Amino acid sequence: MHLCQHIVARDLDGENRLVYNTLTGAVDILPTHFFKDQTLNLDKIEPIKTPLQKRGYLFSSKTDENLLLKSMVRSYLPSQENKVINFMICPTYSCNLACPYCFEESVKDNHSSLKEKDFDKLIRAILSISKQNQQAKKAIILFGGEPLLPNCKQVVEKVLKLALKLNFPVGIITNGTTLDIYRELLLKYHEAVRMIQVTIDGPQKIHDSRRYYKGGRGSFNKIMGNLSLLIDDGFNIALRVNVDQNNLDSILALSRLFKSLNWHKNKNVFIHLARVSSHNKKTPSCHLISEDKLITFIKEKSKTYPELKMFDLTKAKKVLGHITSVFGDSKKLNSPSFYSCEANYGGFYLFGADGFIYACPEAMGKKDMAIGEFSPQYRLFEDKISLWQGRTILSNKQCSLCNVGPLCGGGCTYEVILNNNRINPSTCKEVKEAINNYLDKTAKEWLKKKEVAKV
Ligand code: SF4
Ligand code: SF4
Repeated sequence: MHLCQHIVARDLDGENRLVYNTLTGAVDILPTHFFKDQTLNLDKIEPIKTPLQKRGYLFSSKTDENLLLKSMVRSYLPSQENKVINFMICPTYSCNLACPYCFEESVKDNHSSLKEKDFDKLIRAILSISKQNQQAKKAIILFGGEPLLPNCKQVVEKVLKLALKLNFPVGIITNGTTLDIYRELLLKYHEAVRMIQVTIDGPQKIHDSRRYYKGGRGSFNKIMGNLSLLIDDGFNIALRVNVDQNNLDSILALSRLFKSLNWHKNKNVFIHLARVSSHNKKTPSCHLISEDKLITFIKEKSKTYPELKMFDLTKAKKVLGHITSVFGDSKKLNSPSFYSCEANYGGFYLFGADGFIYACPEAMGKKDMAIGEFSPQYRLFEDKISLWQGRTILSNKQCSLCNVGPLCGGGCTYEVILNNNRINPSTCKEVKEAINNYLDKTAKEWLKKKEVAKV
């Protein structure tokens, strides 16, 4: 008999423990006498062997568990027809803002811009990747630097024209300061523009202390004015709020501002929170907020301030997505994560302003991390691609044996590569703490409300 290695057990009340099977999603309560230390005691569980087997806590052998793990990893990697390939195009690495938490440190002083002559080469690369992935859906995302700087207009128009021709929807990730300058062009290609994402980090004072122009002038008024125009034009707007310890307390005031503008009821406006992250460890961790803290903060506060429910949390969850659906803290069911992100199944190609192709926005501008180039000639670097694509929790012994592997996905590939292909132990610590804290806080409360069958 083999005990499943994907179990998280947490004490509930001294007499019972919550067991959560991260491989199958099963959640149960078992009396503590079935445990030895933190795990089930094989010598004591004979009376409950059959239900434990049924719920995936016990396998006939280690091989059986490994076979299940492998088949789950395979089934959760998107097939060709379910795959979406995002082609992210950066017309420039320059930006007119100087947000202190921006992760684009590697391109901060790099003023590369896509030349018009390179654009045909970029199209050839997109067509070639598309041909190899004929059944996959495709989309284009404009990114930067700031993709809507005034001097990028010609390239942006070419991208929008290309998207219309290929029938690829376009997303634009912009700081929003120049949307008025681009309004006419965007209206012309309205059909192609699926979504425009703009970041507002708080009410004016807070936003302006985090998202300011080079020179220090705040950007709030300009962005809010532009957003009003584009929302009235009927564009789909994703309003992103980057949260960390410094602005968490201001999001209630921000929700009231959005409410006063009726944006929370507008079906074209999607309001969401994202956690400021620091894969390159640039932002000190004391400024960051963990997933569990953010989720429980919103959950607790929204009991008194229901307007906080306007903030979608999907993008703020990296490891707690699946658990929060199991415990009903999610609007939709989230699958487990057997890999870290779309870079791991070839769902993401970033075309940098420097002519290189990258697998992740954070790697942008780091030429030694490029997975190919499109200028001067298109070629993919297979040895580099193999570091990203196909990487799952099975690619690494530590992750394949880890009890929270199916929630974590094996850690961010960019961070692993930066760390000389080793998993950073502090990442594992953060992942496990988030899971344990969430379970400790939520499980007891949830169990009080539900009828749970105790063994
Ligand atoms: S990165 Fe760490 S926490 Fe995540 S699956 Fe691997 S060993 Fe587990
Ligand atoms: S590799 Fe890491 S930083 Fe890059 S997209 Fe994936 S999860 Fe994000």
